[in-house]
Amino acid sequence: MMPISFDEFISSPEARRQSWRRRFEMEETWKSVRPNAGHEAVAKLVQCGLVSHVITQNIDNLHQDSGVPEDRVIELHGNTRHAKCLDCGQRMDIADIHSHFIAHGDPPDCPACDGIVKTATISFGQAMPALEMERARRATLGCDLFVVLGSSLVVYPAAGFPLLAKQSGARLVIVNRERTDQDPYADLTLHREIGPTMRAAVGAL
Ligand SMILES: [Zn+2]
Repeated sequence: MMPISFDEFISSPEARRQSWRRRFEMEETWKSVRPNAGHEAVAKLVQCGLVSHVITQNIDNLHQDSGVPEDRVIELHGNTRHAKCLDCGQRMDIADIHSHFIAHGDPPDCPACDGIVKTATISFGQAMPALEMERARRATLGCDLFVVLGSSLVVYPAAGFPLLAKQSGARLVIVNRERTDQDPYADLTLHREIGPTMRAAVGAL
């Protein structure tokens, strides 16, 4: 299935309908996913003050679901669990958009400004979110330890943050099943499963 680019979404009402139909088909799946041992370990590290921010490329809201406060999660690729107006940023529930779609055959416009409403994800061809990128950069520059969990570190710009941390004097730990190109720069690499590894790390505190 061809991804719908951001430009298509903006310019074509049919692309918007198609995009929303695909999203509604995924709703049961999104609703059934639950945080795993890795999410829970990270949430615990946030709760005890050892982790200041969680920078994520995931769009599933599972860090928030596991108990990490919203203002500590930096979502570089957005979040598919809610929708947003592309013009004014107003947040909307997927369920409300779905009801409107069923009733009218079209997604609603933004109730505040009539703008186009889209899932709060960053689509192919859409600019990276400037605010989130800046928050991630600041969190990276401010940390003394940067831990990479389950990323192959190939998708930029997100993959640039570990080395930025390293350059600014932080230590770098990479936990990933497979080797990454950044392993040589890490102070510690663990080629293991995240869940058991992080659960053990939290247990050892
Ligand atoms: Zn709006």
